[in-house]
Amino acid sequence: MSRFRMYPSPAQAERMLTHCAHARYVWNLAVEQHSHWRRWRKCAPGFAEQCRQLTEARRDNEWLGAGNVDVQQQALNDFAKAKNARFTSGFGEPTWRKKFRHEGFRVIGTGRVPECNEDGSPKLNAQTGKQVMGRSVVVQKLNRRWAQVKVPGCGWVRFRLTRVGLPDAKTFRVTFRNGQWHIAFAVVPEPIMAPGTGEVIGIDRGVNITAALSDGRKLNCPQLTTKERAQIRKHQRRAARAPKGSPEKTAEYAKTARLKAREADRRKDWCEKTSTMLARSYDRVRFEKLNIKTMTAKAKAKPDPDDPDQYLKNGRAAKAGLNRSILAQGWGLLRQRTGDKAPGRVVDVPAPYTSLRCSACGWIDKNSRKSQAEFVCSSCGFACNADTNASINIAAGQGGIPRPRRTAGAGGTTPRKGSSVREPQPNRVGIPLF
Ligand SMILES: [Zn+2]
Repeated sequence: MSRFRMYPSPAQAERMLTHCAHARYVWNLAVEQHSHWRRWRKCAPGFAEQCRQLTEARRDNEWLGAGNVDVQQQALNDFAKAKNARFTSGFGEPTWRKKFRHEGFRVIGTGRVPECNEDGSPKLNAQTGKQVMGRSVVVQKLNRRWAQVKVPGCGWVRFRLTRVGLPDAKTFRVTFRNGQWHIAFAVVPEPIMAPGTGEVIGIDRGVNITAALSDGRKLNCPQLTTKERAQIRKHQRRAARAPKGSPEKTAEYAKTARLKAREADRRKDWCEKTSTMLARSYDRVRFEKLNIKTMTAKAKAKPDPDDPDQYLKNGRAAKAGLNRSILAQGWGLLRQRTGDKAPGRVVDVPAPYTSLRCSACGWIDKNSRKSQAEFVCSSCGFACNADTNASINIAAGQGGIPRPRRTAGAGGTTPRKGSSVREPQPNRVGIPLF
């Protein structure tokens, strides 16, 4: 994927927003059609049938008919692809698209280029023997910094060229988010080559230090500054006080959204740069296996109607705050993007005990962890930053020995021993591994 910031003129932006509306409308129609399907019913219409129905709908509906047919058909095509990939893509069933939130449309290139087989020979039609022509996006370079692309109904739209060379793709997708237009050409980039040095790096992800590397480096994901956070609170307060439905309320919410979008942009930028650095400089990258979804699950609280302070007492606010700071670290994105850029070179190491095991002697003891940042081995006295210690364990692919079974045979349980059974006790598991 190569993505660029797009700068349409106001008239072009207006046209493109109607494209977004049409694409969303058609997509949602497809979602609705498929939501009616039940086991005993006939299968919901596929792409070809939907395209035929679209032609009919365009004839009956003036608003839809005025739009661009390619944009609408591509929305159906996107839906068909999303539907096919619902078990493998990780996104699940295609769902509703919302105005202001999911604004975008796909365009298939208008240029015609002869298609080639994998060995480079021209691709011929099996029946007629004619050359098969493929689609290609029409892009023009204006100068070193700017290029333009043909968008149906809008003519040439300029975008900021921030990469070397013009993108060569069959389709592109235009999105409008947080007041910014972007264009993403459908190109799968080549994976980054391993440096071939055999170096292994372990990465411990945390809240205080986003990524502690096993070579001692501590990388931090940029957050909003204190001043920016204060600004967010200010705008939220003003929005809360503005009368319902007033233009001020909308404006204040828009300002909040822009600041939050800035934070997300910063995080994404950091993740992209860091993952490229990791993929370029190490042969093997080891992450601890985290289940972020369960880690950031909402705190469960028993409702108590007589207790007005239950929200604070149950620690739900604290948990929500922790969740927010976990999600603000971009742990998942960093892992995912590193995996994309260095396929087959990223390994997930089971997380248990990586933070309690001494990286020098292998002793596992929860007393070794003196505080959030400090690690002093209770067996050999090795002292280190706790996150760095964990990342060295991860680099070695070494968590710990499995949690001791507390069940005595099938079904039976033995009573708890000691005060805390959350973490392993030294007399049970404090066995040096080598
Ligand atoms: Zn030790």
